[in-house]
Order: sequence, then structure tokens, then C-alpha cells
Amino acid sequence: MPLVNAKEMLTKAKAGHYAVGQFNINNLEWTKAILLTAQELNSPVILGVSEGAGKYMCGYTTIVGMVNGMLNELNITVPVALHLDHGSYDGAKACIAAGFSSVMFDGSHYAIEENIAKTKELVATCEELGLSIEAEVGSIGGEEDGVVGAGECADPDECKMIADLGVTMLAAGIGNIHGKYPENWAGLSFDTLEAISAKTGDMPLVLHGGTGIPEDMIKKAIDLGVSKINVNTECQLAFAAATREYVEAGKDLQGKGFDPRKLLAPGFEAIKATVKEKMELFGSVGKA
Ligand SMILES: [Zn+2]
Repeated sequence: MPLVNAKEMLTKAKAGHYAVGQFNINNLEWTKAILLTAQELNSPVILGVSEGAGKYMCGYTTIVGMVNGMLNELNITVPVALHLDHGSYDGAKACIAAGFSSVMFDGSHYAIEENIAKTKELVATCEELGLSIEAEVGSIGGEEDGVVGAGECADPDECKMIADLGVTMLAAGIGNIHGKYPENWAGLSFDTLEAISAKTGDMPLVLHGGTGIPEDMIKKAIDLGVSKINVNTECQLAFAAATREYVEAGKDLQGKGFDPRKLLAPGFEAIKATVKEKMELFGSVGKA
């Protein structure tokens, strides 16, 4: 099945009280592991690409080519969206031109008026082309491609203003952070989430920084209207740990253990296991 936008899968998720995972990709192994797991579990999935990862993988057209090729060669029949994560205005335009099915425009660092103006323009383009678009209000803490923000809570009225522009999904800071959570993290602000949900109605809400949020908080967030959860760091940690174990056990020195197809296999399996665990937690298994 060709790429789809994220609208239908998220509308269904919101109505069905589960969430679709966005798993960020970094290379071929990552992409293949996520797609195969989604297919095995009959789950919709969103492949996330940050601008940094886009550069690393030789640009957006390379990524579109790789993903479309895999959908075909692996006979993927579950809904898959290819989504720009934390896009700049120019990055969003480049991804739209390259064939992504979904983009995020992160205008959270602009004043609300400029965020609205730029979001509006991109919403019109996406509408015309049948793509989905995510906007962000209130910066999300931690580090995303070198941009460090303090975990702030979004203003529910600003969320309503952006939601009313016709975006498909809305990311709002509710005390969540990118990367590993610090020991003294205060947890998610469910009061903020409830207030945003009340103002934005059916709008699917997005929870960034899904790595390390306790399971009960994830479930409560889904109950309160979160329909898309972004996972990135957790797959990276799982991949690195499995690869480290392989090398430390000296397996790369045994026989043809240096063959990249063998060397990267434990990391590949670790990503699959992480994605499976998340899809089960989010409730998206069997929802394709
Ligand atoms: Zn994010």
C-alpha cells in the first residue's frame, strides 16, 4: 500500500482511545525494523524524520525512495505515514516537494502571530495536496537536533487558535521532554492536557518525548486525548545496547561476525522489540 497521510489513522485512534506511535528513522535497518513490526502487529505507524536525520540519510528524496521501495518489496499493507518531525518552514516545503505524506511545522519558537501566519500557509498547501500537518504550541523540553528547550506547558487558548487553523494534529508541551528524563522530572501536567483537550475537542493531540514516561502516565495521557506518541531515543538506546553486547562478547571477531548484516542484526532485533512494546502499550495493535 502506498504512503497515506496521518489523518484517518489519528481520527480513528482518538475515537478508539488508543495512540499511534511515531518512530523516528535513521537508516535502512531502522526503517525496515519499524515497518516489519507494524505489519506483524497489524498496526498503523508513522515514520518520523528529523531534519538532521534527513541530512544524514542523504536528503528527503532518498528517504522517500527508500520508504516507498520497502512498502512495495516488503508487501506492507498497514497504513504508513512518512512525517517530517520538528520541521522548519523551509524543511516542511522541501518534504512536501519530495513526496512525504505528512509534515510537522514547529513554529513554537516564533511569536504566536508568526506561528499562526506560517502554519496557515502550510495548512493550505497540505490541504490541497492531501497531506497531514502537525503544529506545535509551547516548546517541548530537552534537546532536539541541538535545540534545547525547557519543558514548558502550552497555553490552552493558543492551542485552540492553532487547532482552528485546520491542522491535522497538535503537539502541545505538557511538561514532556525530549531525550532521557532527569531524576527530578515533575511528570506530565494532566491539568494542562485536560484544559487543552477541552478547548480543542476532536483534535488529535501529540505527545513528544515518549521515551521514559512511566506507563501509567502514557495510558492516562491517551485517555485524555493524546492520539500520537513520538518515540525516538528509546530505539536508539536499545540499538546501541544490543550492538555493544555483540561487540563486547567478541562476536564480530568470530567467523564472519564482522559482516554488517550480522553486526547490525542484534540492534535491528532490539528496535523491533522496542517498537512492539510501544505499540502494545499505546493500544494500536490490530488497529490497521
Ligand atoms: Zn519532538
